[in-house]
Amino acid sequence: MRQIVVISGKGGTGKTILTASFAALAKNRIIADCDVDAADLHLLLHPVIKERYEFRSGKTAKIDRKLCKECGKCIVACRFDAISDNFVVDPVSCEGCALCSHVCPANAIRMEENLSGEWYISDTKYGPFVHAKLGIAEENSGKLVSLVRQKAKELAEKQNCDWVIVDGAPGIGCPVIASLSGVNCALVVTEPTLSGLHDADRVIGVARHFKVPVKLVVNKYDLNIDMTEKIEKYCRDNNISLIGKIKFDKSVVKAMVEGKTVVEYPESKVKKVISEIWNRLQKSA
Ligand code: SF4
Ligand code: SF4
Repeated sequence: MRQIVVISGKGGTGKTILTASFAALAKNRIIADCDVDAADLHLLLHPVIKERYEFRSGKTAKIDRKLCKECGKCIVACRFDAISDNFVVDPVSCEGCALCSHVCPANAIRMEENLSGEWYISDTKYGPFVHAKLGIAEENSGKLVSLVRQKAKELAEKQNCDWVIVDGAPGIGCPVIASLSGVNCALVVTEPTLSGLHDADRVIGVARHFKVPVKLVVNKYDLNIDMTEKIEKYCRDNNISLIGKIKFDKSVVKAMVEGKTVVEYPESKVKKVISEIWNRLQKSA
């Protein structure tokens, strides 16, 4: 079983469109969406949720007013000013350090696990799909990404799948590191702009740091041929395999609006090149 993650230094480069296309083209695969802060792969895969689980992460102090003696020691101890003068904990300010529960002489403070989101195992017409939703303003998306990756891998092993295809988290922080760990190949998608190259370079640096082999695709390359040539030179100079260039194609947006993957969209002019990219990726990952 091999794992491929599709990433980009920032959102909006076509990463999810490519992931969904690979999901449609691959055989015997599990699909995972690690973009848990702004998941949108489900819009193209139309999952039917089969299993739903809570994701708990971090703790918040809770004061039992029946036990509280109103001594105020917890208010003094809290460095985050999370406890009000009427002995109520503000869950947004509470950092879960548990100091208040240690200083409380009445044993009135409990540390409760936060319900931070949900994760799911779903059926799609392309195969099983592991995905998640992080609660609004919740942190720890890296932990949720690791969980999605782990469950997708377990499912692939159980079902004897050939591929785990992962829509990676955007950016270069903890969630993208969690998306990358242990994969056979990271496909970086960029657009032909200076900021696109800069973002791709940063995420390639992260992947290489974790010794993950990297390949690159330029999306909408014909919108700026000069910049595409600069990206080609960057790939040569840095020994990165550029495995495809995709033209701008209006039908990509039309396919998205209709909730279809672009490789299944009859009018698409880019489905052939995306199929070729998938074939190259299969051979080299
Ligand atoms: S757990 Fe820490 S941050 Fe939260 S209320 Fe108690 S002392 Fe403050
Ligand atoms: S330290 Fe305990 S008893 Fe004192 S005010 Fe806080 S919760 Fe109440």
